[in-house]
Amino acid sequence: MIYQPQEYKIKDERMKPFIDADEIWDVLESEKEPTKEQVREVINKALDKNRLSLQETAILINAKNPELINEIKEGARTLKEKVYGHRIVLFAPLYIGNLCTNNCAYCGYKASNKTVKRVTLDKEEIIKQVKALEDTGQKRLIMVYGEHEKYSPEFIAESVETVYKVKSGHGEIRRVNINAAPLDIEGFKTVKKSEIGTYQIFQETYHLEAYKKVHLSGKKRDYDWRLTALDRAQEAGIDDVGIGALFGLYDWRFEVLGLIRHVNHFEAVYKVGPHTISFPRIQYASELDIDKSYLVSDEDFTKLVAILRLAVPYTGLILTARESPEIRAEIMQFGISQIDGGTNIEMKGYTKKNGEKQDIDKEQFLINDNRSLNEIMDDLIKNKYIPSFCTACYRLGRTGEHFMEFSVPGFIKRYCTPNAILTLVEYLEDYAPEATKKRGYELIEEKMSEIEDAKYVEKVKKRIEDIKEGKRDLYF
Ligand code: SF4
Ligand code: SF4
Repeated sequence: MIYQPQEYKIKDERMKPFIDADEIWDVLESEKEPTKEQVREVINKALDKNRLSLQETAILINAKNPELINEIKEGARTLKEKVYGHRIVLFAPLYIGNLCTNNCAYCGYKASNKTVKRVTLDKEEIIKQVKALEDTGQKRLIMVYGEHEKYSPEFIAESVETVYKVKSGHGEIRRVNINAAPLDIEGFKTVKKSEIGTYQIFQETYHLEAYKKVHLSGKKRDYDWRLTALDRAQEAGIDDVGIGALFGLYDWRFEVLGLIRHVNHFEAVYKVGPHTISFPRIQYASELDIDKSYLVSDEDFTKLVAILRLAVPYTGLILTARESPEIRAEIMQFGISQIDGGTNIEMKGYTKKNGEKQDIDKEQFLINDNRSLNEIMDDLIKNKYIPSFCTACYRLGRTGEHFMEFSVPGFIKRYCTPNAILTLVEYLEDYAPEATKKRGYELIEEKMSEIEDAKYVEKVKKRIEDIKEGKRDLYF
């Protein structure tokens, strides 16, 4: 059953809305003119891998001196290397259906848009799209659904099960994450049974009035139902959740503190923060029907990502193909842990013939990084990142994976780097053109030195040989 607003009652203290706009503005105002010493003290606290409070995050937000902003960015870069090493996890979005009963002012799929082509993939079509994705080397997907009665929890669960069964050559999808409408607890339980990874729901804006202005009709207009969605997911046993804000709907400084407040809520109630934070940005070029005064400049965007990195060191940060390759390259240095690659968000887009242009009538929004997965892999390798398709923790039941990589000494060197290398070897053997393959093996040679434990070096070498001989899906 899809949620009916009038049936919803807050049954539990924990599910009470927890964002107080006045509190957030008071914190921002109280730290309006931070001193250099205050800013540096906060950066140092973050570099010791401590979570920052709302107050401390506000100090960074209000730092305006270019020298201090540079120190914030440098701090984020150092922390990223300390915590995440050099691997970047890759995934691809797969849109399953764009029927929608909501009217979000910023979205091409809004119900009132009659020019958009409405499509829901049936089983055969899902299989075709997934095969096409697997044939490029993808191993991790995020499946996206509009909000419509057709996309019931059962429908979502079935589509996930379909995806896991698709095998093309050596290809398979090892982790499916979900981006879909809020469900009730029973609905989340149904979806959980299909063995999803992360359930992702973005609040879009944490500011209630701004929220009402852009969510014109439909169930999504109910701010509290959305805000408490991931609490219901937790109640249903889904403890791996992703939060996010759509930057450009309201003041970015407020949204950053909204996200931190959301993390605080999770940590206080469930003892574990969200797995990931996303921060899609409405682009300047957008001709959508929204107040453009809150659009976020490249400069502020870079600063806010660096601040998020420092404020929540152990939470994965996702940067998507909404951003151009140049912006992605710049921002990746400041703490991004996941990106999408080879992205096509057109309905049935992955089976489109090469060279066909983006068709905005089939898309939710325009993307700015249209490179193929291999172009992105190649670029990451050239820039000394290890592209990773690792799904090891999730499959070995090592939950709270980002918390572990942050808090367990040596975790990255023992697990993340070897697993990134092994999934890269699979990619090089199965999908990469010769030039990428050559560069990839050179990078692996170099990065082996980052695995300190000699025992692991031997094990990784052995497994690389096993993969070359045809074994797959080896991990630590
Ligand atoms: Fe529907 Fe999502 Fe678009 Fe809103 S953002 S109109 S809920 S598809
Ligand atoms: Fe993520 Fe765990 Fe793999 Fe590291 S080993 S990349 S934390 S799944």
